[in-house]
Amino acid sequence: MSGNAARRKAIEGIATLTKTPSSFCYKSEKVEDIYGINVFSLEKMQKTLPKAIFKNLKDVIENGGKLDSTMADVVASAMKDWALARGATHYAHVFYPLTGSTAEKHDSFYEPEGSGAAARTLAGFSGKTLIQGEPDASSFPNGGLRATFEARGYTVWDVTSPAFIIDGAHGATLCIPTAFVSWKGDALDKKTPLLRSMQALHRQAKRILKLFGHSDPGFLAATAGPEQEYFLIDSRLYHLRPDLYTCGRTLFGAKPARGQEFEDQYFGTIPERILAFMQEVEHDAFKLGIPLKTRHNEVAPGQYEVAPIFETANVAHDHQQLTMTIIKKVARKHGLVALLAEKPFAGVNGSGKHLNWSLGSAKVGNLLDPGETPHDNAQFLTFATAVIRAVSLHQGVLRAFVASAGNDHRLGANEAPPAIISVYLGDQLAGVFEQLSAKGTATTAKKGGLLNVGVDVLPPLAKDAGDRNRTSPFAFTGNKFEFRAVGSAFSIAGPLFLLNTIVADSLEYFADVLEKETKGAPAKLNAALQKLFKEVLTEHGKVIFNGNGYSEEWQQEAAKRGLLNLKSTPEALPQVTEKAVIEAFKRQGVLSKTELESREELSYEAYVNTIRSESKLTLEIARTQIYPAANRYISELALARSSAADAGVEFKDGLLERVAKLTADLSAALLALEKIREDLKAGTDAHKNAIFAHAKVIPAQEKVREIADALEELVSDELWPLPSYQELLYLR
Ligand code: ADP
Ligand code: MG
Repeated sequence: MSGNAARRKAIEGIATLTKTPSSFCYKSEKVEDIYGINVFSLEKMQKTLPKAIFKNLKDVIENGGKLDSTMADVVASAMKDWALARGATHYAHVFYPLTGSTAEKHDSFYEPEGSGAAARTLAGFSGKTLIQGEPDASSFPNGGLRATFEARGYTVWDVTSPAFIIDGAHGATLCIPTAFVSWKGDALDKKTPLLRSMQALHRQAKRILKLFGHSDPGFLAATAGPEQEYFLIDSRLYHLRPDLYTCGRTLFGAKPARGQEFEDQYFGTIPERILAFMQEVEHDAFKLGIPLKTRHNEVAPGQYEVAPIFETANVAHDHQQLTMTIIKKVARKHGLVALLAEKPFAGVNGSGKHLNWSLGSAKVGNLLDPGETPHDNAQFLTFATAVIRAVSLHQGVLRAFVASAGNDHRLGANEAPPAIISVYLGDQLAGVFEQLSAKGTATTAKKGGLLNVGVDVLPPLAKDAGDRNRTSPFAFTGNKFEFRAVGSAFSIAGPLFLLNTIVADSLEYFADVLEKETKGAPAKLNAALQKLFKEVLTEHGKVIFNGNGYSEEWQQEAAKRGLLNLKSTPEALPQVTEKAVIEAFKRQGVLSKTELESREELSYEAYVNTIRSESKLTLEIARTQIYPAANRYISELALARSSAADAGVEFKDGLLERVAKLTADLSAALLALEKIREDLKAGTDAHKNAIFAHAKVIPAQEKVREIADALEELVSDELWPLPSYQELLYLR
């Protein structure tokens, strides 16, 4: 099929779509009956495991206790029985390599026993297989952590995240969450540092709570609630866009006649076909015990959001990875394709993943809740100040951890937070912190009433006293911080373990100072806190900003304050191995210098690989699809013009000239891009390559796109090969 025939056929299919697939209905099936049925939960363990073993596992999961590995055989056997009863034939260690994706290798439970006519097949699954696996590590990126001849890597059972079952068309697979480490013990994945960082945060937060008189606070876990934005487009149109199915985002496309300027998408009525999709996503998630809570239309046409109820960070991470998988899988079932890329369409809103973060335990509650009692206010202010200090000290690496070729299209583009990392507190809290900074103590809060940091009488902070601000990359939103610069395609593990680590490091600093000043005397805490707040906020108050993050003035103001403004990935990435970062990660025992270096290296490689493939595809599509269409149109116009001339009519619209000029420009731009790409050599210095890709390749590629998009607005629709933005964003 040539020209727009394929498009027409796709559109016809969408227009005549009548039914959405459905395999369940809540009228006959209750959520409570399916919730968690595919999870080997604590409840199921309690039913099937001997008391002592269950007690140990529960302690590990809830209190960060030490795992007694001698009981593995018993657990494995119970897990296997449960999985077989639910139709499993295979098991898989699931892990999270540095690519940010999810990896799994399946093995059958069944092994033959005996030989000849007496042979039988038996399902077996030992404790050793549960605890440890050995996938070939050499095919996963490691950023120089491992020479290729040292291919060994191990997956290790993570008890803190429950095993679960994934249903397939013909049976199920038991999935065991694991950490992935090299033979030397280096973290080859995203889970290992996340688990290490959870421990570090607990250790330091516990010291602070002790000063406030909590001697037994339980395991102080980081909590996370990620909000996922995504686009849905019809699968038929998707398959006519090589840029979408290869790169996950469009490399061409003129702006649609109707964009998001009407602002009628956000929270609009969810179309029936989309709602059916969302319900099935939730259904799959519920079976896996993923607490999805919110669903709605987002700002751009074709854009949506889903958010869960927050959980312990490690589990929230595993559930987020699963949620992304489910979204993609279910979309296919509904004839749709989910785009998780940060900027699938130029000129319309991109997608992010707001990462809500806090810390606490069942015993002491949420430590970032301003609280109802004075005592808790002082404690809250201590934790909040520690976060502010951490963000100020580590603004560079926070920016670097959300850097990618995809997210570069979004950050700082007046739709997402700017590349400058600052903290939004809201008017009321900002007022409190201003006073703390000046005097170490705050005596007024905006809504009146007294506010003091110590053990004196303080009124509770009204939780919603602060306004909302969508332009801040790091906002305090009532009882948690919300890191909004994370890209929609990202694994949340990196941002999570970074936050855990830098906050743990800040808390360690606080604990050191306060323990020394008070020498165990609670009466001295108030004065010590006042001194500490004043000192810390004088130095780090610069990172607090409550204004409009999209404004030009903020760029200037931030520069005056000495805040970093790292606009692109190659500019941001060196921050990963800044001295202060290496030291903080080392102190907290989360990543070694080499482990950090490997991550920086890999991020450069990923960046260059993205630009390399996107620019290659830009060349290909422009040359083999757009350029021929433009040329055909030139012939058509020329022929029409001469026919008209024969009839004595002269065309004065200049269309032929415009199309011909653009086509000639396109040809030149393609040559330029082709030439520049030759210098993007593989295997050379990754940082230099990334800088070159950013400075030279991207502009050359954008030039091609600019011309092609201008042609799209002129060339006959009948000849245009690619589905338009209109079709992609509005047809469903
Ligand atoms: P909004 O950001 O629009 O105010 P919500 O208040 O619903 O939305 O919160 C967004 C996300 O923040 C949800 O996933 C929610 O569960 C999560 N969240 C709420 N409290 C915490 C917390 N203490 N720690 C981590 N995440 C939290
Ligand atoms: Mg939010």
